[in-house]
Amino acid sequence: MAEKAEKIVTCPKCGERSTVNIIVSVNTKSDPWVRKKIMDESFFLWKCKKCGRNTKMLHPLLYSDIERQFMVYYIPKVSRSQIFDDNLESEFSDLSDVRKRVVGSINAMKEKIVLFENESNDLAVELSKLAVSEVLAKSTGQTVYDGYCTELSKAQNRITFQFFLGANHRSYIHTTRYDVYNRSLSIVKEFYKDVEKKKGFLNIDRNWATEALRRYKGYQ
Ligand SMILES: [Zn+2]
Repeated sequence: MAEKAEKIVTCPKCGERSTVNIIVSVNTKSDPWVRKKIMDESFFLWKCKKCGRNTKMLHPLLYSDIERQFMVYYIPKVSRSQIFDDNLESEFSDLSDVRKRVVGSINAMKEKIVLFENESNDLAVELSKLAVSEVLAKSTGQTVYDGYCTELSKAQNRITFQFFLGANHRSYIHTTRYDVYNRSLSIVKEFYKDVEKKKGFLNIDRNWATEALRRYKGYQ
């Protein structure tokens, strides 16, 4: 069953105050409809009953896919390596085979869901993304703010990322060979296989990859 909480919201258009039931925890078995709504981002829209205005309303959400053994805990604007909820932490700490991640953006949540559904290794994807984004920053002369893996296909021999570049955070699609992921995967298997054994919700993002790559270069 979906777990709900009440929240009072004020419509930015007409000022109407409403009490809204927000869903804070779902699992794909009892709530299979949630996945599609997260992917098209309609899950976080709230519609004002008075004027009909749709407003984005971001709130924490724990997404569990126990069949495929992963949980993604979305907390808006998460800070690095923070463990957010001790109760949640202890409640799920015995699920040692379940990959547990905490993410700070909806894009990151979508990325983790797609990667775990395809049984991909998100640590290797983060390392690949960092390597590709560094090349991209050099070749374009622009800052790469963020990036997400949108496709990882062994059969097609490619990995595709959407990056956000420059002051305007311009969207930039970049595709490269699957080998980039394979190389990262071998680094993960050699140096970071213990990471997966850690209990609790891990924040596997660009900061993690930067630190992991720095340490890996130290081993060389
Ligand atoms: Zn309204």
